[in-house]
Amino acid sequence: MLEIQHLTRSFGGIKAVDDCSFSAVQGKITALIGPNGAGKTTVFNCISGIERMEKGNILYEHQDVSHWRDYERAEAGIARTFQLLRIFKNCTVYENVALAVHDRDQHLIPSFFGFNRLKEEDEKKIADVLTRVKLYDMEDTVASELSYGQQKLLSLARALLQPHRLLMLDEPVAGVNPVLRQDFVMLFKNLRDEGETIFLIEHDMEFVMEIADHVIVMNEGKVLKQGTPAEVRNDPRVLEVYLGK
Ligand code: ATP
Repeated sequence: MLEIQHLTRSFGGIKAVDDCSFSAVQGKITALIGPNGAGKTTVFNCISGIERMEKGNILYEHQDVSHWRDYERAEAGIARTFQLLRIFKNCTVYENVALAVHDRDQHLIPSFFGFNRLKEEDEKKIADVLTRVKLYDMEDTVASELSYGQQKLLSLARALLQPHRLLMLDEPVAGVNPVLRQDFVMLFKNLRDEGETIFLIEHDMEFVMEIADHVIVMNEGKVLKQGTPAEVRNDPRVLEVYLGK
């Protein structure tokens, strides 16, 4: 689904990402982990096209998208969430997800103040996704009134509702309470079983070990190790990066 070849990006003298190569396989969950400042967000930004890369190639579904604009990549099916949530805080849960159902025929925004309901098919999709993220009975709640974990779920719901083939999620469980976090574990496993391709950044190791099929560990801009959760967990270099010598 996604193949990154020799990705490199510097800021001033700092090589934030230094010659990184890896791939994310269709229908699997791939996790990108590493300590703070390892270069994970920069990798995500380069893939989604909001950051320019210096060197390397990004292949998405066998097409070289390295020079595509961010919106062209989004239109091609790369959906993404952000560490700092990008939701409409003053809008309701329903309005937030309705705006994510991207359909050029529906002219949703001009009718926003009267807020026409959407096509039946889209309403069904929204109800289904809101049920899955446990926000169904909060449709009319203003987003700013949700807990942080629920806001994360709302941002995930928005990503799920965008037409996509690759879901890129930046720290989906950071700051989420332990009960909701367990819901996320189930949700991700179910999404994978349904064929979603998920590529995520996450600091919560237990979560990563529980759900990921493939783990890529970055440190100081480089790929330190990649493999199954068990392979990564038992690698002395990975332990050293996380725990010290
Ligand atoms: P975290 O887990 O803390 O989010 P990260 O692994 O996502 O970290 P990045 O945010 O990609 O790491 O940062 C990698 C390096 O690049 C860091 O040294 C960071 O300070 C630097 N960096 C990132 N973005 C910029 C920028 N816009 N300007 C200057 N330096 C930057």
